[in-house]
Amino acid sequence: MCGIIGCIGQGPAINRIYIGLLALQHRGQDAAGAATHGEFSHIKKGNGLVADVFKSKNLERLKGTMGIGHVRYPTVGSGSADDAQPFFITAPYGIALAHNGNLVNYQDLKRELVKRDLRYLNSQCDAEVILNLLSRELLSVRAGGFSPDRLFRALKPVYRALNGSYAVVAVIADRGLLAFRDPHGIKPLIFGRGRDGCCIASESTALDLLECPERWDVRPGEAVFVDRRGQVKRRVISAGRRPATCIFEYIYFARPDSVIDGIGVYEARLRLGRELAVECARQGLKPDVVIPVPDTARGAAQMVAEFIGAKHREGLIKNRYIHRTFIMPSPAERALAVRLKLNPIRDEIAGKKVLLVDDSIVRGTTSREIVSLVRGAGAREVQYALYSPPLRFPCVYGIDMQTRGEFIARNRTIEAIRASIRADRLVYQTTAGMIRAVGSGRSGFCTACFTGAYPTSVPARLMKGIEKERKKKKESF
Ligand code: AMP
Repeated sequence: MCGIIGCIGQGPAINRIYIGLLALQHRGQDAAGAATHGEFSHIKKGNGLVADVFKSKNLERLKGTMGIGHVRYPTVGSGSADDAQPFFITAPYGIALAHNGNLVNYQDLKRELVKRDLRYLNSQCDAEVILNLLSRELLSVRAGGFSPDRLFRALKPVYRALNGSYAVVAVIADRGLLAFRDPHGIKPLIFGRGRDGCCIASESTALDLLECPERWDVRPGEAVFVDRRGQVKRRVISAGRRPATCIFEYIYFARPDSVIDGIGVYEARLRLGRELAVECARQGLKPDVVIPVPDTARGAAQMVAEFIGAKHREGLIKNRYIHRTFIMPSPAERALAVRLKLNPIRDEIAGKKVLLVDDSIVRGTTSREIVSLVRGAGAREVQYALYSPPLRFPCVYGIDMQTRGEFIARNRTIEAIRASIRADRLVYQTTAGMIRAVGSGRSGFCTACFTGAYPTSVPARLMKGIEKERKKKKESF
C-alpha cells in the first residue's frame, strides 16, 4: 500500500506535491520520491519520511509545472532505494510513473518484457513493469504524434496485460499528467481542481490541503489526462467489471478525514462501531468502561460505548513519535514496540471490566501485548472487540498481510483466538455487519482478506509465487 499524487498547473508543481505527500504520509513511511518536468525532467527519491528525503535544495532542483510524488509502504523485506518510486523512462517522450497497488502477474509480465521486448528491468517494483508496458504500447501508436486519444488507445493493451490492483499517476514530458485506476477500482484515486491547477491523489485529504474544491473519484477502469493548458480528458478504458474498493481502506488504512468513492472514512468507522455494538450486546458484554486502541478505533469505540450505555474513556496513550510497528521482525521486538507505542492510564483501568475496541487482528502479537498491558494496569476483566471480521486470506493487492499461515484466525476458532491473545472475552464484527456499515446501502468492495473472494483471477500458481516471495523477503529482513 502506498500513496500517490500528481499535480499540474501554475507555479512549481513540487511545492504542491510536497504538501500532498505530507498529507499522505500515513500511507507509507518507508520511502518517498517525486519527479517533475519543466525544461528537463527531474527526479528525487530515497528511503525515509517525506521530510527527511526532500531537503530545500532538492525542492529547488525539482523544477517544472507538472509532476508526481509517491510514498512507499513498508512491506516486509523491501527497503531497497532502487525500488523507491517514481520510475523514469526516456522513450517515448520521457515518462515518470508512480503506482499504488500490486500486480498479481508481476513475475509473468517481467519475464515477458525480457523475452518479447528485450526490456531488462532494474528493480523488484511493479511500477517499473507498468511503465515499460505503457512505454511499449505508446511507441506502437506514436505515428502521427501525441494525443490523448492515442494515449488512451495505448492504455487498452496495458489494461489487458495487468492483473491486480493499480492506481497510477504519470507525467509525460511536455504533454501533461496521466492517471488511471484498475478495472475494479481496488485502490482509491481522486481528482481535484483548484485555483492553481489539477491534482490527482490517493486520498481526498491531500486535496483539502491543496485547496481543490472541485473533485471526483476516478472511476474503476478510467484514465484521466490533463494537458498543459489544464484541459481534462477522461476515458473508461476497461468497463463492466464489478467495482471493488478495498474495504480495508475504511477499516484501517485511510485517514479518517478522507472521503473514498463517496464514503467518508470517519463516518464509516462510526457505523462500524455501531454494528459492533449490536454484536457486543448480542453476546452479552457488560463492560464498566470502553477504551479505544488508538488511533484508528477512536470513533468506533465511542459508538460502542454510546450504544451499550457504558463509560467511554481514553485508557491507552499513544506515543506519536514511534512509527507503525507492524513490520518489526521478531515477536519479542514487536512486543517491545507495542509498549513503546502505548502506555496505559491506570486510573481508568484498575479494578474495572474493560472493553478494548480495535480495528483488526492480523497475527495477534499486538492485541496479546495490549491485553497483557491492560491486565498489568489492574483491569478486573479484559474484553476485546474488533470492528472487522477475522482476517484469514492474504491480500494480493498490496496490503502487507503476510502469508496464509501467519494469520491468527487462519484455522482457529474465535475461542482459540481468544485464548491465544489471553483476553477474557473476544467479539468480532460480522462480515455482513462490516459491509452494511461501510457501504450504508452500497456494495462494491473488495473483502478478499476476510472472505477469500478475490475480484480478479488469482490462479493457485500465482498465489503460491506471491507467498513464496513474501516469505523469502521476510527471511532476508
Ligand atoms: P498484529 O495482530 O500484531 O499483527 O497487528 C494488528 C494491528 O496492526 C491492527 O490492530 C492494526 O492496527 C495494524 N494493522 C493491521 N493491518 C495492517 C497492515 N496491513 N499494515 C500495518 N498495520 C496493520
